[in-house]
Amino acid sequence: MSDIHVSGPVPSLNPALRALQCVTCGEVYPVSDLPEGCPACASRGRPSSLEAVYEAAPGAPLPDFAPKSHGYRWGHWMPYLDGVTLGEGATPCLPVPALAALTGVASVWIKNEGANPTGSHKDRMSAQAVSRALATGARDVVLASSGNAAVSAAAYCAAAGLACEVATYRDLPAVFDAALRHYGARRVICATGHARWEHVRRRVREDGAFALTNYSLPAVGSPVFGVEGYRAAALEWVQQGCLPDHVMVPTARGDLLWGLYSALRDLVRLGHLARVPKLWAVEPFPRLARVLGGASQQADFPGATQQFSTAGSTVTAQQVHAATRSGGGAIVVEDAAARAGTGQLAAAGFWVELCAGAGLAAAQMLRADGRIDPSETVLLMLTARGDRDPAQITN
Ligand SMILES: [Zn+2]
Repeated sequence: MSDIHVSGPVPSLNPALRALQCVTCGEVYPVSDLPEGCPACASRGRPSSLEAVYEAAPGAPLPDFAPKSHGYRWGHWMPYLDGVTLGEGATPCLPVPALAALTGVASVWIKNEGANPTGSHKDRMSAQAVSRALATGARDVVLASSGNAAVSAAAYCAAAGLACEVATYRDLPAVFDAALRHYGARRVICATGHARWEHVRRRVREDGAFALTNYSLPAVGSPVFGVEGYRAAALEWVQQGCLPDHVMVPTARGDLLWGLYSALRDLVRLGHLARVPKLWAVEPFPRLARVLGGASQQADFPGATQQFSTAGSTVTAQQVHAATRSGGGAIVVEDAAARAGTGQLAAAGFWVELCAGAGLAAAQMLRADGRIDPSETVLLMLTARGDRDPAQITN
């Protein structure tokens, strides 16, 4: 906790944060940095994410999301109550009647995460994780990403005065490469996705760098302090008057899916919400769908897709739990259907990345096979803007 080299206040750890707990085996750990997840589960070859445990009294009021002049808005639901911020969160949430009519349901709401400072939901993770890095005196932040997380981490590290190193694929789209250079991040080119993780692992274990994303194989979710940042999105939509029956969540390794689930579960526990909506992991080819069908979660599920934000070949424990405990599941949306969904969203005024368009297509598929009833309400997580999506600007 010493050797802070950045001027300015040290981020304040939430005094209500009591411990970390494994989302699979329930083992409890002191608040600390365990970037490889639960040590007990990892020792059994089945890595699992940790979550934060907060002391929250039943009946306590929800955090106040009213705009403030600066700083965080999420009260005692996040690990850090202040710290690095670029004004993330409080994104628009609104019903879109034209999309409800297209989908054949009572209402379709959108949560427009593209309105975050660097254009994606990843800013919620970066704000909390980079605050954690600052608070622990880290000098270097390292992550594996070839997309939105890379741009977001680079921006938040710049704001924090921390060095940012991003392990990327060789064919990183030019717009992302330019963003990394602009923010002063260091790019390390790796041949494969797993080679990116090996690089991050080496930097963490040998140099003490602070990891923002997973580097374990079998895969685990991103480190707990960042994933907790996604809880705010669910708290916001409840305060914004949206009470969906179903939520469509573009998913790779399920950081967002788990963060939403944990907040909704806590809202139910504390009496603010009657039940957790069904969370649907929208994926470009079968991964979670195969695991829910009986395949090993530790297996590799390669597949090709232009939905670059949800590509990857691994499944994590946290996404299995979020999908099953919410009563939702996995839904596979191939690229052609994702493009159709993206077009329908654009016709309603929202240009989003391809995997977010897949969320609308997923809702229509679930409506068609009866898993969504015409009387029900759907929320789409529009994870990122479309205007730098290589699948939409290079052809
Ligand atoms: Zn465990």
